Amino acid sequence: MDVIRSVDTMQALALGWRARGKKVGFVPTMGYLHQGHTTLIELMRQRCELLIVSIYVNPLQFGPSEDLSRYPRDPKGDAAKCRAAGCDVLFMPDNLYPSDFRTKVHVDGVTTRWEGAERPSHFEGVATVVCRLFGLVQPTAAMFGEKDFQQFTVLKSMARDLAMGIEIIPGPLVRDHDGLALSSRNVYLSPEDRRRALTLHQALYALRDSRSQSAAERIAAGRAILDCDSLDYLAIVDPETLEPVELVDRPLRAIATARYGRTRLLDNVAIAP
Ligand code: AMP
Repeated sequence: MDVIRSVDTMQALALGWRARGKKVGFVPTMGYLHQGHTTLIELMRQRCELLIVSIYVNPLQFGPSEDLSRYPRDPKGDAAKCRAAGCDVLFMPDNLYPSDFRTKVHVDGVTTRWEGAERPSHFEGVATVVCRLFGLVQPTAAMFGEKDFQQFTVLKSMARDLAMGIEIIPGPLVRDHDGLALSSRNVYLSPEDRRRALTLHQALYALRDSRSQSAAERIAAGRAILDCDSLDYLAIVDPETLEPVELVDRPLRAIATARYGRTRLLDNVAIAP
């Protein structure tokens, strides 16, 4: 596995591969890798000839009061995990943007609610960094975890709308042995908060398993189980538009974000009527 830190070297290599018609798979991350990430890397490995993983903690997607400076990092451990998962190139730029960077990528509609409402400019930061990474890495396909369901929807829309010619593939949400969705941010949880955080997926499962046709009734059933310091949202949405629904009469998605101390945890489940 090669480790590349320079954006110019990365792009020159990637353009060479594309010119030779290679199937290039890409898994972008912010590092501090866990089994959720390595699952995506292993799944992507099976779909491409050359596999690139990026690690870059993107300042553009953090708000002023968010955890950019204390975001957990482990470059050595991450490199070992990428190698073991079959990565060919680990792209770890120290700096991704030119000093006079002027462009922002804004995706409309699917960014307005949920994470978009809680974290203004977050998705602009995500779409912008992914767009720039796509230019540098020149992938034919990229995988994003369903753990961040809205992010996946936003990036799928971006790639389609801008005719990028890159297949955007969803990766399954990977959970810990007790059901907690794996996240780099789980390390911030106190033992007590980690225990309480189990009610997040339990609430979503209760809502999924309810037989009610009413979204409001299902949400109330989930809310009754949830133990958190504050709830940003718990909703049942259309999986394409992310608009909330009233009736559970087709495949939908239940999404939630709750806070435990200073840590925000996201989770979601698919709902079949
Ligand atoms: P991050 O490093 O948190 O930006 O995540 C990088 C990629 O890994 C994104 O596509 C995430 O959706 C995905 N990811 C993070 N956690 C999980 C998980 N528990 N299961 C599956 N994918 C995940």
